[in-house]
Amino acid sequence: MDADDFSRGRVDRAFLVRWLREEDPERLEALWAAADAVRREHAGDAVHLRGLVEISNHCVRQCAYCGMRGANRGLERYRMTADEILECAREALGYGFGTVVLQAGEDYALTMEWVEALIRRIKAETGLAVTLSLGERPERELAAWKRAGADRYLLRFETSDPDLYRLIHPTLPGGPQDRLVHLRVLAALGYEAGGGVMVGIPGQSYDILARDILTFREMDLDMIGTGPYLPHPETPLGKGEIRPDLPAGEQVPNSEAMACKVIALARLVCPEANIPATTALATVNAEGGYERGLRRGANVVMPNLTPPRYRALYEIYPNKASLAVNASVECLMARIRAIGRTIGRGPGGRKRAR
Ligand code: SAH
Repeated sequence: MDADDFSRGRVDRAFLVRWLREEDPERLEALWAAADAVRREHAGDAVHLRGLVEISNHCVRQCAYCGMRGANRGLERYRMTADEILECAREALGYGFGTVVLQAGEDYALTMEWVEALIRRIKAETGLAVTLSLGERPERELAAWKRAGADRYLLRFETSDPDLYRLIHPTLPGGPQDRLVHLRVLAALGYEAGGGVMVGIPGQSYDILARDILTFREMDLDMIGTGPYLPHPETPLGKGEIRPDLPAGEQVPNSEAMACKVIALARLVCPEANIPATTALATVNAEGGYERGLRRGANVVMPNLTPPRYRALYEIYPNKASLAVNASVECLMARIRAIGRTIGRGPGGRKRAR
């Protein structure tokens, strides 16, 4: 396979399925190298660090994969105060990060006005870029938060397959049928928009995953977050209550290698996007997950700055890597430098060729 095979125009569904199914180590090396070269050319060697603050684990939704789903009564719930969140933002600034990411379950006690005031305070007191990841909120709230100074919004679309989406992500009555609608709204409001999918979710076939990757390109996403699906025992998918049946050999595994293939292919289809090596990837490979992601197309890491007393309660899946003792920011920065990369400065928004 010559280098031309990786040019953007040639990347179609059949190409993607072939690479997702590829297991030959030498050929995979060629894929990693191609993704790494495209990453270097379009995103650079700097790894941007985003301080992740998990501000609430309350959630009204019933996603079949997520441990924070409202029906999980066994989970103690918390909501951080604005002062606590500001403290985390200042910590991010202290580390030299350019961005703070505020993530939560879909929690309507985080009202439009409260979040708006929070964004203004973070902007005034730290000047950091603000990324929100608060679920499927109404357009007028998203617009108010943009006016308050929010820069980016993360909302993974989870799958591009309508049937699988319905199965794993029950919509709210009257709400849109999928998250792609929200992503278009976010882009139109002027946010840098981030989407993505879990890799190896039950019911995800190679064909579906290939379409997901093509969707990254169609949506021209500014950020693409992907990571292996990790079963949570208190969820319908984790308990096996929902078992999407696929023909033998069609189910995508939730392996580290598959997660890396998706990062690499995402980089090929969206050369300029900011692509994180995610906590889920580091959870399946604590020793080298971040490094693998960063060498196979990723250019972002999101260190967890949530106060330790809350961190374990933000349990979207068990045993998050951010709970490990070696999850310190200093350690992470040393690991990034050890693979020959630099630490990004400034907000680290999407670079554009033009
Ligand atoms: N409420 C917000 C944030 C959810 S957590 C939202 O829905 O956008 C962010 C992402 O974690 C989700 O979009 C999902 O892709 C991922 N996630 C949730 N449960 C997971 C699991 N069991 N394994 C791996 N990733 C998971």
